[in-house]
Amino acid sequence: MSAEVAVVEAGNVIGGERRPAADGQTFESRNPARHAEVVGVVPRSGAVDVDAAVRAAADALPGWRRTPWPRRGEIILRAGLLLEQRKEELARLMTREMGKVLVEARGDVQEGIDMAKYIAGQSRLPFGDTVPSELPDKWAMTMRQPLGVVGIITPWNFPIAIPTWKLFPALLAGNAVVFKPAEDTPLCALRLVEILEEAGLPAGVVNIIFGLGPEAGEPLVRHPGIAAVSFTGSVPVGRRISEICGPLLKRCSLELGGKNAIVVMADADLELAVDGALWGAFGTSGQRCTASSRLVVQRRVLDQFTDALVARVSRLRLGDGLVEGVDVGPVINEKQLRRIHGYTEIGRDEGGRVLIGGEVASQGELGQGWFYLPTVFADVRADMRIAQEEIFGPTTAVIPVESLDDALAVANDTTYGLSLALYTRDLRTAFRAIDELEAGIVYVNAPTIGAEIQLPFGGIKSTGNGHREAGLVALDQFSEWKSIYVDYGGRLQRAQIDT
Ligand code: NAP
Repeated sequence: MSAEVAVVEAGNVIGGERRPAADGQTFESRNPARHAEVVGVVPRSGAVDVDAAVRAAADALPGWRRTPWPRRGEIILRAGLLLEQRKEELARLMTREMGKVLVEARGDVQEGIDMAKYIAGQSRLPFGDTVPSELPDKWAMTMRQPLGVVGIITPWNFPIAIPTWKLFPALLAGNAVVFKPAEDTPLCALRLVEILEEAGLPAGVVNIIFGLGPEAGEPLVRHPGIAAVSFTGSVPVGRRISEICGPLLKRCSLELGGKNAIVVMADADLELAVDGALWGAFGTSGQRCTASSRLVVQRRVLDQFTDALVARVSRLRLGDGLVEGVDVGPVINEKQLRRIHGYTEIGRDEGGRVLIGGEVASQGELGQGWFYLPTVFADVRADMRIAQEEIFGPTTAVIPVESLDDALAVANDTTYGLSLALYTRDLRTAFRAIDELEAGIVYVNAPTIGAEIQLPFGGIKSTGNGHREAGLVALDQFSEWKSIYVDYGGRLQRAQIDT
């Protein structure tokens, strides 16, 4: 048996110790390319385990909070350098655990490395403001303070990158963390936390609770010791978390789904647009919050664009992401496979025409995993469910439009607002799109995927509740501003009165 197929049995990480669930239950993580293959066995935690983790984090908080920012930054930097050293090993584990092809798994780890370096660099930046007071002999300034113990809940589609977007800024700001990763990718999360430990993070500052959303995630959100929740995942779960946090007046930041579109204008470089659509729609088997699941194409180039796209899709190779030359890996699990095919049936019933794909792929070795043929729908109207709802699979819908006005209206006609793109050679068209596309992220002549960590990441409308990750604003989610006035006049000075 090669090292790659050894089953890892792991415990929760609580106060630096490895612990089983209090009731001894476990669950498995399996390879979606060969679902008979068990990758890991981890605790199926409940409220008792969550409570133990929150207590461990609360114990570790005072020491961590007092650790100077640059020292905290150095630990994060060391974690980034360890991620760099282990990039290949982590990428291979990721491909086995959630299926994305190896080249993309390496990119996922790289995003974590970039984030570590970027956040570590912020540890010596001047965060607060020193501003003039309206009164003499008075000093006025601001500083960031940690929130306390924060709960972090993440999805499986970026099993290293997304946790680093949350963990690194939360830690730099001086918080302690209880982390509930997705049930489909527990081992990637564990490896990341082990790296933080190896980098010198004191025990208890980050604790992992493995488990299922309602059993482990929800008690974490509700726990009175959790000051804030940072969540990335679907709209229904985000809404649920928001409903729990609302009456508790608990801060929660939600990064949710998308129904992203690429607009292709008639004057675009069509070859470039087809390249972008292929990568945007089928990268990570379409399982990205920024996936290009709508292609809004000006009718004058509709046939030319669609024919070229379908020809390229027909050459995509499906398979185990560890195999050289494979372009598209499996989808995450059986439930998601059924859901994706359900949308194909919905699309057909609504009058959409499947140009290619539209089936579960089960020939040969593909039958051992959860594979879906890359699918392109034509004759789609903007109001159809396949043009409105997030499918989260390798399915994209071509929507014809007549004009730029029409294209912008269709692109904006969704409850989501994460990522929108437009291909054109006309500068005026590009700048109108930049101004009028309703999304947190806009691309010109590039697909809807490919965000870089030095800019804010997040969406408007139902994609979130107004927060951003990454960029210089990364710390906002995980810190409070404190305003400080120091009066050294030796007499009472009354603001707004002693003018
Ligand atoms: P999900 O089903 O919402 O799950 C996300 C996380 O929440 C998982 O850890 C899940 O645990 C947990 N969870 C489930 N129910 C919960 C509950 N009642 N209370 C607390 N936690 C709960 O999403 P997913 O299927 O993992 O990920 C796909 C979704 O994430 C898509 O909608 C995608 O667009 C979105 N996403 C958004 C971004 C962004 O930045 N905007 C980035 C990536 C993905 P289990 O694993 O046990 O279910």
